[in-house]
Amino acid sequence: MKILVLNCGSSSLKYQMMDMETKSAMAKGLVERIGLPGAMLTHRPKGGEKEVIVADLPDHTAAIKLVLQAVIDPNFGVLASLEEIDAVGHRVLHGGEKVSGSVLVNAEVKQAIEECFELGPLHNPANLAGIIACEQMMPETPQVAVFDTAFHQTMPPEAYIYGIPYELYEKYKIRRYGFHGTSHKYVSQRAAVVMDKPLEKLKLISCHLGNGSSLTAVKYGKSIENSMGFTPLEGLMMGTRSGDLDPAIVPFIMKKERISGDAVNALLNKKSGVLGLSGVSSDFRDLQKAADEGNYRAQLALDVFVHDVKKYIGAYAAILDGVDGIIFTAGLGENSPLIRRSICDTLDCIGVSIDDEKNEAAGGQEVDISKWGARCKVMVIPTNEELMIALDTEEIIQKM
Ligand code: ADP
Repeated sequence: MKILVLNCGSSSLKYQMMDMETKSAMAKGLVERIGLPGAMLTHRPKGGEKEVIVADLPDHTAAIKLVLQAVIDPNFGVLASLEEIDAVGHRVLHGGEKVSGSVLVNAEVKQAIEECFELGPLHNPANLAGIIACEQMMPETPQVAVFDTAFHQTMPPEAYIYGIPYELYEKYKIRRYGFHGTSHKYVSQRAAVVMDKPLEKLKLISCHLGNGSSLTAVKYGKSIENSMGFTPLEGLMMGTRSGDLDPAIVPFIMKKERISGDAVNALLNKKSGVLGLSGVSSDFRDLQKAADEGNYRAQLALDVFVHDVKKYIGAYAAILDGVDGIIFTAGLGENSPLIRRSICDTLDCIGVSIDDEKNEAAGGQEVDISKWGARCKVMVIPTNEELMIALDTEEIIQKM
């Protein structure tokens, strides 16, 4: 089976053509600057040279048309015709409260995506545009929507309700939704394989640490807590997002800096986090370099980040009533032995003890880095959201 996985952003689009027999990508690519001057597609067939195509792409329909042409191009394409595509799996950011799993796209699903435009203003309109474009281009091909929030719909009310008047939840659905669900679901399934135990018997903490970061408590295969909230701004301090802060700070900044609520929101999303704190960069590699050279604020940013992750691990260990395994994934979680070591230091209280050699050597592969006999396993598991989307898509269309 061949599945096209699409991840549409407001002006970009990522895709992978997945071969489900080998569970790997036959080609992957990126379209940038959709609707802007200088739009282009970069296409990489597996084992081949990258192809860059510059084109005028006024909207997502034009972008998807170009992707489909690239996929069947006689020179660098990987399929003979579009008929070989059995289904399209779309990454959709927000499913609100209505969606608790991946679903075959129909009119009701499109309406549910549209109803969440306000909750995911940058992503949901683009995700829907991608779906509509594919329907126009491949009307006979089934489409599946895989939601970033769906995995967290198993969170109990005590985890997702905020301490604000209940009417605000009823009126505007202000609650925690949780994000990165596709990644947390994938790595927790893989952790069970690495641990050689059934997922239904495991209490796991999944740490997705990248530019955006979140932790999930996974109890017996279900998400019961995620550190992100109503939007992806809550939780850990991240690359450019502040994470948790006293809500009274928002009107205080508005008054002192004479800026609007929208401007504070932009400040907290785009100019805060390790970038705002260090004044150096949102990239942890730059931070580490600056900290090594003696930059106090860069070191402080790293220390705050590590402290935040530890704090959530401790909280989730309590919520889970014990932890069998901790997973590190995404750009930072997969590639930074130093961050993993700093987080795992002094977590003996929950049975964590990592092997320094295994930790230093980890990267690119699924690996257990805990010391032999440690009560709580620590694993590095590369995330693969595209494969998770393709697997969900395959499962749904096989049932059709
Ligand atoms: P996104 O949330 O945008 O998907 P990624 O998961 O790709 O982000 O993670 C990007 C982050 O991973 C960057 O901040 C980068 O600093 C960090 N990162 C990637 N490789 C390394 C590395 N070798 N050491 C430290 N940090 C790394």
